[in-house]
Amino acid sequence: MSASLRRLSVAVCLVSAAMPLRAQPTSPSANQRFAREIYQEMIETNSSTTTMGTTILAQAMAKRFREAGFPESDIFMGGVRADKHNVVLRYHGKGGANGPKPLLLLAHLDVVEALKSDWSPDLDPFKLTEREGYFYGRGVSDDKAQAAAFVANIIRLKQEGYVPDRDIIVALTADEEGGCCNGARWLMANHTALVDAGVVINEGAFGYLKNGKPQANTVEATQKVVATFTVTAKNPGGHSSLPRPDNAIFQLAAGLARFAQYAFPVELNPVTRAYFEETAKVESPEIATAMRAIVKHTNDAAASAVLSRDPLYNSTLRTTCVPTMMKGGHATNALPQTAEVSVNCRMVPTAKPADVRAAIVKAFADTGLEVSAASGREPPAPSPLLPEVMGPIESLTKEFWGNIPVIPVMQTGATDAIPWRALGVPSYGVSGIMVDMSDFRAHGRDERLFVKSFYEGQEFLYRLTKALTTAKTVP
Ligand SMILES: [Zn+2]
Repeated sequence: MSASLRRLSVAVCLVSAAMPLRAQPTSPSANQRFAREIYQEMIETNSSTTTMGTTILAQAMAKRFREAGFPESDIFMGGVRADKHNVVLRYHGKGGANGPKPLLLLAHLDVVEALKSDWSPDLDPFKLTEREGYFYGRGVSDDKAQAAAFVANIIRLKQEGYVPDRDIIVALTADEEGGCCNGARWLMANHTALVDAGVVINEGAFGYLKNGKPQANTVEATQKVVATFTVTAKNPGGHSSLPRPDNAIFQLAAGLARFAQYAFPVELNPVTRAYFEETAKVESPEIATAMRAIVKHTNDAAASAVLSRDPLYNSTLRTTCVPTMMKGGHATNALPQTAEVSVNCRMVPTAKPADVRAAIVKAFADTGLEVSAASGREPPAPSPLLPEVMGPIESLTKEFWGNIPVIPVMQTGATDAIPWRALGVPSYGVSGIMVDMSDFRAHGRDERLFVKSFYEGQEFLYRLTKALTTAKTVP
């Protein structure tokens, strides 16, 4: 997942450095031991994006499916590149071809690179270490806990003789972290029928702990979309000993100074409205009041000002565009002929790239500056917060952690849900894995996850899979 779900709230962020341990289950059940064994196999197969590991891991999971009695015809292995294979399993329900469309459980097998020399000397990123209530290893949180839970759960369901009312698909994919084109998008484009689903459960959201106590569970239901524009000033240039008032660097800098004053208007969607409504329940009074006010009136400038002080809330309120790179001039003793800046935008899913470009043009307020064309991709619409999906998530959340809110979130980064959402398939990031966001180490050094959270997530996803394949009303 991306780095966007940094934390739930300021309150959660300010947790003290003393990290309480989560109590471990007294003795893991047979199902837990089985999930741990799969998790260990996943962590200890180095599937960082430049290795063959993704294919080796996909083969290992296919072997587990075969050993569990799934027929070869229900297991697909493949990919455009030999080192980036995907594995897809189909578990047949009683609906058949005329029944409801399948539930797709989606997780990625690849991980971000990790160098042993960058980690603490007593940890190896590609060995699963269990110590003091934590699992350590590359991918323990992103995304191998969820991937291992899906594999363990689907085998458990088969052993239990469970007959779902629709097919269940497990897709374990390559290329979520490093590439673009060999994983989920490739499957969707080349094997559409294999992964065609009525609803998708994917990574991209966690539950939140504060001082070891559960605060909220979250469900990712929409994402921002990236677009980068280049703004260029051009000038005939000349000798630097004869400066003139028209100078490409001055011209661009003046435009940037105007652009710095610009903020896109607040633009909420059903997911971000629900996000602010639910987050208000666990925020400080000042922030909570501003959240409730902005949901009522998106043009409430005072509420927007309060929330915009926080980078995550600001990014959730609106499209953001920020200069990220500059270059200009060609010699220290020449007047610059060009000066340009990259403006990186994170568009809310209801934004149109052409409108975002028009806003940039207006904010720079200089017709002499060139602004590059908008990129072609339109953001997919948010997934609707369907009661048939949110209902089971809410009741399971209560069952597991008591009376805490379920908060729908908009990822400010990206996951593999995009190709399904683009086709209008309701897709949700949800894991039931509790993390402390002040200690979130995905993609980083000494990545770790609470042992208890791993087993809770496994059981949460098991029960959610059942809940979403027994109710006739789920799409
Ligand atoms: Zn991920």
